[in-house]
Amino acid sequence: MCGIVAYSGKKESVINSLVTGLKRLEYRGYDSAGIAAISSSGIYDKKTVGKVTNLERAVLEDQPVGLNGIGIAHTRWATHGEPTVANAHPHASADGRIWVVHNGIIENYLEIKKNLQKKGIKFTSQTDTEVVAKLIGDLYKGDLRSAVLETVAQLKGAFALCIISKDEPERLIGVKYASPLLVGIGKDELIIASDASAIIERTKKVVYLEDGELVDINKSDYEVVSFQDEAIDKSVEKIDWDVDAASKQGYEHYLLKEIMEQPEAIENSLRGRILLDEADVRFGGLMDVSARLKDINRVVLLGVGTSYYSAKLGELYFNALTSIPATAAMSPEYRYTKNNIDKNTWLIAVSQSGETADTIAAIEEAKRHGALVTGLVNVVGSSISRMTDAGVYNHTGPEISVASTKAFTSQSLLLLMHAILLGRQQGLDFSASKKLIRAVVDLPKSIGEVLKSRDLIEKVASSIRKDNDLFYLGRQYNYPIALEGALKIKELAYIHAEGLSGGELKHGFIALIEPGFTTIAIATDDVVKDKMIANIAEVKARKGRVVAIANEVIKQADATVVVPNIGSDMLQPLVNNIALQLIAYYVAKERKLDIDQPRNLAKSVTVE
Ligand code: GLU
Repeated sequence: MCGIVAYSGKKESVINSLVTGLKRLEYRGYDSAGIAAISSSGIYDKKTVGKVTNLERAVLEDQPVGLNGIGIAHTRWATHGEPTVANAHPHASADGRIWVVHNGIIENYLEIKKNLQKKGIKFTSQTDTEVVAKLIGDLYKGDLRSAVLETVAQLKGAFALCIISKDEPERLIGVKYASPLLVGIGKDELIIASDASAIIERTKKVVYLEDGELVDINKSDYEVVSFQDEAIDKSVEKIDWDVDAASKQGYEHYLLKEIMEQPEAIENSLRGRILLDEADVRFGGLMDVSARLKDINRVVLLGVGTSYYSAKLGELYFNALTSIPATAAMSPEYRYTKNNIDKNTWLIAVSQSGETADTIAAIEEAKRHGALVTGLVNVVGSSISRMTDAGVYNHTGPEISVASTKAFTSQSLLLLMHAILLGRQQGLDFSASKKLIRAVVDLPKSIGEVLKSRDLIEKVASSIRKDNDLFYLGRQYNYPIALEGALKIKELAYIHAEGLSGGELKHGFIALIEPGFTTIAIATDDVVKDKMIANIAEVKARKGRVVAIANEVIKQADATVVVPNIGSDMLQPLVNNIALQLIAYYVAKERKLDIDQPRNLAKSVTVE
């Protein structure tokens, strides 16, 4: 999920090329960095926590000698194991002869690890990646490509890998599966990287690897083969972006990039956690507390801002799928209310950064009462992940833009899966659960369909760019989405907006409706759709303007954003929300605002 750079070329440029490549990938966010290069005395390696400059300094202090021009480097965004030097990549085989960098997640790493441990192989990190290095080492019989091909045949999950071996000093191997990797074809040098920004200053010629492909570099020659070792004829393409565009993968803003990458981000959130045949879910991070989950009689979902709105969705999910009462609580208020909680309460703390000060304070309060506290955070090793009893990571990759998009979708979906987990323990019906889980698995595809209609959404957004006030209306599962939609347009476009339940409208708010006042109404097909249509009529009767989010054109509305009907009331809101994210983005863009860093906002709010 983070950055890979690997180099084969002039010996004097190897370290410099690797370090500069890593610097070009810094925009992605990462927690540690590392490098390994082939030298006459074996493999030179260095790993540091924090910025690439720390790695650069460490290399300067311990200058490698006798390099031959081949090396691999990595910036890590931890998914398995905290950001420490031991967990940083590259990882080595048991005998230290083979070194590997990896982006992605190995779903079946525990299984592979157990098998290797039985053979007496020792592990030195908590990562999933280390099993790849150890397995290649175990299978190595003198030909790196064969050992890598045998290894990838055993791996499940997402993996972009680069591998070097002390015994084959002229060789560099790259592998791609469900995580990006490309080969830059330079003058007298070949550079493998996880994204074009790492190579663009050295070469514009590139070979994009597809899933199931391996590139075998032998000094200045390269060959691409399938995982079955059949030769593949690849064409060399030309990159016509500059460095800035490359880091945003061609998008104008990180926010749009993060909105657009949601199908892939969600797939990563689901990886290894779905048991479709058993109509169940599995969270490795909750295994240790599974006995305690059996005694739970109350669920509290804690968050603030966007995380609070996903907690509100979570509250509805738990109440629908389990017989245990659930409540969403806003973390800054939590300490100042009398919370009748005890050891039978399950408190789930939701925070993208895992550093939210208000949520941390609320966790401390809950722990004093003896509650079971688990985290749902995106940043591995963050404060919340360390102070909770157990937890689940989002695995959506770093979110750079300040306003949260992909993390919200992932949080909400994972909370639904938490509710399924508890629901199944309490006898949630097999077929109902299976249907829901199927919809979960299909969600990335449904989100992808909304993303395809973004040009139409841009036109709708243009019609509200001059508004100063907006209402967002939704009911039931779409009520938290109305709240989140309103927050997004406040954050990004600085438009005052209120998220309301359709049922609240008549209780005061309708006084604001006057000719031209725009209401965004979520009216997709569900049990409350007729009520939403009635709300739309109420707005129209007062000559307000209505933009509907619906599964077909709503004739009473002035404009409709049509989104696919995914056949699940619980998950439809996450599809609807994509349209609201895009509306907020395009309005902010038309208003020429600083989209990735809106005024007065910080990505992680570490003060109360
Ligand atoms: N899953 C690996 C780890 O936690 C790779 C993370 C990454 O893509 O940076 O080390």
